[in-house]
Amino acid sequence: MRRVRQLLPRTFQGRLTLGFVGVVLLTLLLVSGLAINRLDDYFSAQEQQNLTTRTAAVANIVRVFLERAAGTRPVVGPNNTLDPQAALLLADEDFLQPLADRIAQADIRIRVGQTTIDSTGAATVVPAPGGDVAATLQAPPLRGQARELIGRTDRFTVSSSPLFPWGLEVTLSNPYTFRASTIADLTVVVGLVAFVALIVALAVASLIARRFTTPLRRLTEASRVIAEGDLTARVPANLASAGSSEIAALSRQFNAMAAQLEESVEIIRRDRDRSREFLADVSHELRTPIAALRTFNELLREQAGDDPVARAEFLESSSQQLERLDWLAQNLLEISKLDSGLVLLDLRPDDLRTAVESAVEQAEAAARRRGVELSLRLPSRPVRIRHDPQRIGQVISNLVGNALKFTPRGGSVTVELEPYRDGARIRVSDTGVGIDASELPRIFERFYRGSRANEARSSGSGLGLAIVRSIVDMHHGRITVESRLGQGSTFTVYLPHDPRRDEELAPPADPTTPATSDPAMPGPGPAAESAAEPAAAERAAPGAPIR
Ligand code: ADP
Repeated sequence: MRRVRQLLPRTFQGRLTLGFVGVVLLTLLLVSGLAINRLDDYFSAQEQQNLTTRTAAVANIVRVFLERAAGTRPVVGPNNTLDPQAALLLADEDFLQPLADRIAQADIRIRVGQTTIDSTGAATVVPAPGGDVAATLQAPPLRGQARELIGRTDRFTVSSSPLFPWGLEVTLSNPYTFRASTIADLTVVVGLVAFVALIVALAVASLIARRFTTPLRRLTEASRVIAEGDLTARVPANLASAGSSEIAALSRQFNAMAAQLEESVEIIRRDRDRSREFLADVSHELRTPIAALRTFNELLREQAGDDPVARAEFLESSSQQLERLDWLAQNLLEISKLDSGLVLLDLRPDDLRTAVESAVEQAEAAARRRGVELSLRLPSRPVRIRHDPQRIGQVISNLVGNALKFTPRGGSVTVELEPYRDGARIRVSDTGVGIDASELPRIFERFYRGSRANEARSSGSGLGLAIVRSIVDMHHGRITVESRLGQGSTFTVYLPHDPRRDEELAPPADPTTPATSDPAMPGPGPAAESAAEPAAAERAAPGAPIR
């Protein structure tokens, strides 16, 4: 059994072909076997019929010749005696042999005598003395003829002499027939036809099997390429639809899976790159205050430690750097929480005015210190939307903090809240330095600091707007920025009525406000008004730390 299995082809195409050819072969064998068998039966019946005719012919000839030999006398007389002339004729080999060789084409036996009717009504010939003769077929067979082991006996009652009725019994055996050779010829023809049919079946089967297996081979090839690391490999679309519908579906599914895999790996790769960049940024941010602290420490231990003024100054600077380090550590903790999805919003259907108002109040002291006018415009009616008051407060604080930071003394910062469609719109505008159009697309990135950031009176670390974007995203809201260099900036936050309902995503840009543009395509020039919002891909990224 194992040997037979080893002989079987191993490929799907080979097995499919073998199976198909096997079925065709079996069908041919059954059909041709049955057909030849039926034909054999038919020829046997024909030969029997033939034999009957020849028996009758032999009987007629014998009767005529016997009657002619007997003349006016009865052929079989009283006491079952054969007429002497008739007896002579029967004994004559020249009479019998031609009958056997030409008419009967078989061994013959002739019995002549009185007939009796038995109890069943069947006639029996009682052969008269000298009335039982036989001859063996001696003529050579014709082409295709062969002896057949069949025989037939017929009885004929002759009533030409009413006084002495007599009868004839003719037996033909082992006749020449064409049956065997005809069947042999037919078997050869059927065999040939079957052979041709098999060859055709083999060709058709291998073609069909090939058609079936080509997409499978492509699938294997694509899987191999993917396994080797090239995730762009796919089964060609035309081949995917070539085979059966199941294989086409499998190919389509495979392509879909490969596309999904490629996308997932791409996302993971982007995340990994971002994490690396982020780690590098963090190390860089940490290095500056640590280096400063080390320098202050060394100076204090050396000569400056004795000078009270220098000592106080270095201690003050050290405490500022420590504060900065503390602030960074807090933000980094928040980042890791946001990245791991641990930060959940505490959504409440509260009046948004409260969160905005308290954030602005907290910034008032800083505004006074910086000599910037801070004003707040609130609607008279409550703006009830589902939001996390503390996080929205952080958004306002960060935006107002930036506005104050980048607005020179004497300038103004305005915070404005109003209902917008089902949700709300918060605007924070300033009359500050503005943002260069080329920098607009990047200001929401983590650790990105604009070129004018150093000119500002207080430097940041580029995390504030990333935090804002993250919180707005968590609320399914949207943030846009418009800025004119040297004249000021306006940040607008759109919040939906209920972030839990997907259809209530942030509304599209209000046609009444200046148009916002893609961050990748900043405004026409530095003098022109520029606008940006975080790119969609970035918005899908994990949030930023909370200040
Ligand atoms: P930072 O801590 O540096 O303020 P942010 O993420 O808050 O970090 O801001 C990123 C950059 O965007 C800033 O460095 C600054 O260049 C620019 N920016 C933000 N807000 C304003 C504003 N109101 N006016 C001018 N530039 C701003």
